[in-house]
Amino acid sequence: MIELSFHGGMASVGASAILLDTGSEKIVFDYGTKPREVPPIFPIPIKGNVDAIFLTHAHLDHSGGLPIFVARGDNVPIYAQEVTKELTELLLNDSIKISNEEGFPLPFNKDDVDQTIRNFVHLDYKKPIRIGKSTITFFDAGHIPGSAMVYVESEKNILYTGDFNAIDTRLLKGCEKDLPEVDVLITESTYSDRNHPNREEQEKEFVRVIKETIYEDGVALVSGFAVGRLQEVLLILRKYKVNFPIYMDGMAKKATTIINRHNKLLRNPKSLENALENVEYVNNKTQRKKIIKQPCIILTTSGMLHGGPIDFYIRKLYKDEKSSLILTGYQVEGTPGRVLLETGRYVTEDVDLELDMKVFRFDFSAHSGRDELLQFIKDVNPEKIFCVHGDHTQEFAAELKEEMGFDAVAPIANNRTFKL
Ligand SMILES: [Zn+2]
Repeated sequence: MIELSFHGGMASVGASAILLDTGSEKIVFDYGTKPREVPPIFPIPIKGNVDAIFLTHAHLDHSGGLPIFVARGDNVPIYAQEVTKELTELLLNDSIKISNEEGFPLPFNKDDVDQTIRNFVHLDYKKPIRIGKSTITFFDAGHIPGSAMVYVESEKNILYTGDFNAIDTRLLKGCEKDLPEVDVLITESTYSDRNHPNREEQEKEFVRVIKETIYEDGVALVSGFAVGRLQEVLLILRKYKVNFPIYMDGMAKKATTIINRHNKLLRNPKSLENALENVEYVNNKTQRKKIIKQPCIILTTSGMLHGGPIDFYIRKLYKDEKSSLILTGYQVEGTPGRVLLETGRYVTEDVDLELDMKVFRFDFSAHSGRDELLQFIKDVNPEKIFCVHGDHTQEFAAELKEEMGFDAVAPIANNRTFKL
């Protein structure tokens, strides 16, 4: 008897964690946090020993809780792409730094993070491995470099999508479409209720805003996520031959270096290296003060204006009508980025500023939009579907059931264990 239990990332985004108990093996898919909560929220604990963890990608909402296993004395192997290991190390160490700065405790320390990273085992796409009686294979998920879908062959064939993008972006090819037979699909549902705007139109409008800002002698301040998003933005600037001074600041620098080292995972392996030819890294306040005296493009974190060097730049530029603040990611409710879009004010614990600089938002999402999600589910055509990782999983499961005839369910906190 196979049993699936959902420990987080159910009816919302964050703290993704799933336990598959095949009767002979216990396998965990992802173990994340809700990183933007202070302190972060962790999954419902998984009791007992686990045979293996498969990590779909580095983002903290999938990886942020991994050191808990080491902290409780369990050195379980974590299978992931090499780039996922390196990016996870970067993000976990950053979460330790933030907990120290903001003064909230985490249930693990720096030593636990280091040991967690040592427990990683490299697993490439399409290279099946055996865990007890089950065979597990990674397929490219097209979400960020190294992102994987997990396919388990046991009594039932199970596919967990992790976060996935079905369409090509500048950085990555869309997810693997040639998948083996799937009985049980566990799918992310981030955009189950909406489509993305046309990508090419977004790119062109983004480039137009950048050019207009620079021609007006302003600074184009672009905020985005360190892992995936700002690399995508770099490639867009390259594609449209935007030849102004480009600076990169914050954690995106290290993330870009790591991703470029694993460039065989990119849609065009040379693309990032080429785009970096025009980019200068910014490392300190003196440099920051200097670069904003001239029109330029600055790419920096955080993507939701929650800390990072973007805070310095906004405080310096907010009164400048010629400059632009350009958001490139989804803004979660309650974050300074969301508040800014709703009120025109930049509000943090320290400041409340009314912006004269122009504010724009673009959608360069790395998740499948609604139409792609539906097409993917039709193509996979499973016997049973679990909808997770979204704000509308219940509605989505109901729709899949009533309108498309699938046996679909959305796990919730008090109904989260299922026998297959
Ligand atoms: Zn992700």
